[in-house]
Amino acid sequence: MERYPRRKTRQVMVGSVPVGGGAPITVQSMTTTKTADVEGTLAQIYALKAAGADIVRCTCNEPEAAEGLARIVPRSPVPIVADIHFHVEMALAAIEAGVHCLRLNPGNLRKPEEVKLVARECKDRGIPVRVGVNAGSLDKRLYDKYGGVTPEALVESALLELGLFAEVGFDDVKISVKASRVPLMVEAYRQLSEVVDYPLHLGLTEAGPPPSGTIKATAGIATLLMEGIGDTIRYSLTTDPVEEAKAGRTLLEALGLRERRNVDLIACPSCGRAEIDVYKVAQEAQAALEERQIPLQVAVMGCVVNGPGEARSADLGIAAGKHRGHLFIRGQIVRVVPEDEMVEALVEEAEKLVKEGFEARLAAADRDAAKLAEADRRALFEAKGADANRSEARVKLVRERLGAERSGN
Ligand code: SF4
Repeated sequence: MERYPRRKTRQVMVGSVPVGGGAPITVQSMTTTKTADVEGTLAQIYALKAAGADIVRCTCNEPEAAEGLARIVPRSPVPIVADIHFHVEMALAAIEAGVHCLRLNPGNLRKPEEVKLVARECKDRGIPVRVGVNAGSLDKRLYDKYGGVTPEALVESALLELGLFAEVGFDDVKISVKASRVPLMVEAYRQLSEVVDYPLHLGLTEAGPPPSGTIKATAGIATLLMEGIGDTIRYSLTTDPVEEAKAGRTLLEALGLRERRNVDLIACPSCGRAEIDVYKVAQEAQAALEERQIPLQVAVMGCVVNGPGEARSADLGIAAGKHRGHLFIRGQIVRVVPEDEMVEALVEEAEKLVKEGFEARLAAADRDAAKLAEADRRALFEAKGADANRSEARVKLVRERLGAERSGN
């Protein structure tokens, strides 16, 4: 796998999941159900796990939520983090409920005695804490001291909380310094990573709905990950949290920071040469392959003239010929199938490839496929010519128009 050199951090165990200390970078998300709704929350936790979440956070904002946690934690397939808002009682109740980690916001839980009480309790029970600093709820004193929300103010907020923990000998900690502006968030994490070796939880807070929210969060999180900063990540999107987990997982796989566990579908953008509706076929293929969790890079290409060559590096692909699909493995044509069976054939071959391996599937290739495909490719090339997008014809028209105008002048 391609890797970016990672900053060395200590390791924290969130239940059975290690965070930091060279462990694989984990994906987090947060439930949107009422935590008191045990079945609804568990259903969402299972969906989040299926989409790629390693750790899930639930709110613990009221006594009913704490009771819900006591019932959810033993049945959850992933470790549970309780988000404590303003009340120390909720932190203590979440600990009693058996959660695997607490998230404390220094801007919300402010009284030093209360923070130390929670830290002491966590220390006794072996429960880690995420110090979750948030630009939107920065302590007013720090806001005034720095003249606004700055990277320095966010870092100092985290360090002040660590100071309180140190007074009771507690250091089982990971930290986040989230902001909703990418440059502020990136700089805060950079500065924090210079002064502490605790694992860092990355996120752009209140990123908003996709696609802009996903793009903004990716800009911040990916920048830091490529600098070796970050041990666990969360996309805070205004949408179904399953999309957050998917986005987190996709980013880590794209950067080569986690093994591919589901399909990476690549597709051409389509053009005048396309023999099929590339968008439709790509979407159908993506849905079918995702559902089966096929861990391959699969290509959908609109034509056979350029398709198989351009997608040579994909594990598997299909390109559209004249009413036929050319199925290829690492650029080598293995079968030619009718156009309306393209997606079905792609999925079937993907499953066999995962089961039997590349060598076996290349050995099982249809011997006539390459010849048939080449004949198809030539026929298409001849039918559409070298200028299928009519670019050269248009250039000619442009020249004629400009020439006419010039001579008119
Ligand atoms: S030339 Fe073929 S493969 Fe390339 S964009 Fe056009 S249709 Fe897709």
